[in-house]
Amino acid sequence: MLDLVTIPCLADNYAYLIHDPATGQTAVIDVPEPGPILAALSARQWQLSHILITHHHDDHIQGVDTLRERTKAQVLGAAADAHRLPRLDIALAEGDSLRIGAETGAVIDVSGHTLGHIAFHFPQSRLLFTADSLMAGGCGRLFEGTARQMHASLQKLAVLPPETLVCSGHEYTASNLRFALTLEPDNSQLISRVAEVAEKRAQGRPTVPATLAVELATNPYLRAHLPALKTAVGLPDAEDVVVFAEIRSRKDKF
Ligand code: FE
Ligand code: ZN
Repeated sequence: MLDLVTIPCLADNYAYLIHDPATGQTAVIDVPEPGPILAALSARQWQLSHILITHHHDDHIQGVDTLRERTKAQVLGAAADAHRLPRLDIALAEGDSLRIGAETGAVIDVSGHTLGHIAFHFPQSRLLFTADSLMAGGCGRLFEGTARQMHASLQKLAVLPPETLVCSGHEYTASNLRFALTLEPDNSQLISRVAEVAEKRAQGRPTVPATLAVELATNPYLRAHLPALKTAVGLPDAEDVVVFAEIRSRKDKF
């Protein structure tokens, strides 16, 4: 099993470390800034071997070059994004796999927030790194892709084992859940998640990762197929993707 470390960066970003104790191999997922990641590595005396990039936005990649220089780690990211990412040592596409120590990770295309956004799934350790695709209680804004693309991307994640830990890229959970409550004010799991999240934030703790089971029960973007959500947005007979698009566009105005 891989060890997981959640690292707050910048104002509301997260980077993650995964570490294989047997081989010492260590990867970081996204590099909003190098400082907190170097500190987390040195506190554990871990050597960084891999830098995994999810998408091209500055707040996920701006520390990559410094971190590469300091650690000599290999940089992996989407081939589709290679023209707008730091130099890649390995360019990835959906279906590719990568190894961190004894574990094999799978690359999943989750375009929608951006085109070329990828997620990393480590099934043995039940870890899923989603950045700005599936987020705690929400999903990323549609900057480059369509609602249909994001819906299809999230559907690929929704079928993974429910105990999977979803490690997403930002601390947006409280506001995501506030929006979710406008759609499902009577969802008891959502109501208790709101309380748990408020408590964690009051203690200055991250609200990520969360299990996929919790997301399936409370995240409106994974619930567009349910009659309750369709009715909540006034589209009782619409296709799932149309309901999804309506939910996403309501959030933009929320
Ligand atoms: Fe982003
Ligand atoms: Zn982001």
